[in-house]
Amino acid sequence: MAALASGGGRLFVVSGPSGAGKGTVVGQVLEQRPDIFLSISATTRPMRRGERNGINYRFLPEREFISGRDRGDFLESAEVYGHLYGTPRAPVENALKAGRDVICELDIQGALAVKRSRPDAILIFIEPSSLDELSSRLRGRGTEDPDTMRTRVKAAYEEIKSSGQYDHIVINDKLEDAVAEVLRILESSRKE
Ligand code: 5GP
Repeated sequence: MAALASGGGRLFVVSGPSGAGKGTVVGQVLEQRPDIFLSISATTRPMRRGERNGINYRFLPEREFISGRDRGDFLESAEVYGHLYGTPRAPVENALKAGRDVICELDIQGALAVKRSRPDAILIFIEPSSLDELSSRLRGRGTEDPDTMRTRVKAAYEEIKSSGQYDHIVINDKLEDAVAEVLRILESSRKE
């Protein structure tokens, strides 16, 4: 993986098991910090109810994803739950060069790959208050079939075990506290 072009902006990577509420936390952080650029990942997974192409993800056919990956269009890419996900390189590099902070929502493999190519990236792990809470959020979302849900809850155990490799861990017990904590991390990294 080629190193990222350096610029004035800082790169934040947010991870956490599905159902930990990281999408909601990031959404609220961006409402308060609209200056931050949110990277829109590409994926080959099917679109869920309520999702929009180009807003939640760029939904790509597998062939198109793979040819983009082979051209080096992605900063990192990984297979997650049987589908391909990747971070389009150009928008992130352009935002960083323009001095904007960037947030990418990636799984652990993606986060660690970014950290290897850019050690100054700041990794934030959003953890659910408990695995029971995570299961009930996933059930409440109602977008996953029972098999997928079981896979995701099992993966959550593994992800939480790896969270020690992150710079910051934020427990999403109460949404507003988690949002405030992430905003604090963004601010404190600015002063370093
Ligand atoms: P979901 O299918 O629930 O939207 O996402 C599944 C997992 O893929 C989540 O952990 C999410 O953070 C991760 N993910 C989303 N986009 C990317 C990406 O571009 N690269 C990597 N490595 N993981 C991603």
